[in-house]
Amino acid sequence: MKLFNFNISSQRSSTCSCDKYHPLGLSRDEISKRIKESNGIKKGLELKSETSQGQQLYQCPYCQQIWQSNRAWNWGNKEYLIKVPAIEIEDWKVEPYMQPDQMLIYSALMSEYFEKNILADSEKLCSKESCIKPALTTSVLCKDHFIQNLQEFNLLPKRPSGRPFEPYHFENSGLKM
Ligand SMILES: [Zn+2]
Ligand SMILES: [Zn+2]
Repeated sequence: MKLFNFNISSQRSSTCSCDKYHPLGLSRDEISKRIKESNGIKKGLELKSETSQGQQLYQCPYCQQIWQSNRAWNWGNKEYLIKVPAIEIEDWKVEPYMQPDQMLIYSALMSEYFEKNILADSEKLCSKESCIKPALTTSVLCKDHFIQNLQEFNLLPKRPSGRPFEPYHFENSGLKM
């Protein structure tokens, strides 16, 4: 009986559940689900560092997987954890990884804008120095520079801050995975 108990406890302390979690999809449901799972995930992890903005960096002592904890502002500022690539702690502190909740909000606002505003290329060139893309029919600027301009004047949301990482990437002014 004693031996049996011993086996159970040694098995427990040498495994982790990191593999169970996939990269977080950019949907409200996935973020809500991960918020619920995060207290459980955090139990097996070791805190490595944190930023003054409240993000934390964790590592799993068994498989070495790195996790980042974020606050989802649009979800009542609740905490959720995501797997992130390995990184030097000093580099991470300077620029933590981009938060999926912010990627999701950004993409939603951008696609809302593009549903209402059709941006078509003209035959002229963009008037921004050394840009070789066509200007839009409705502007002297190309699509990229036009959007940048709107972002600078806060007429469109700015790109979320933070370090982009796989599997997320910018596409058609939003973020995809
Ligand atoms: Zn692990
Ligand atoms: Zn341009």
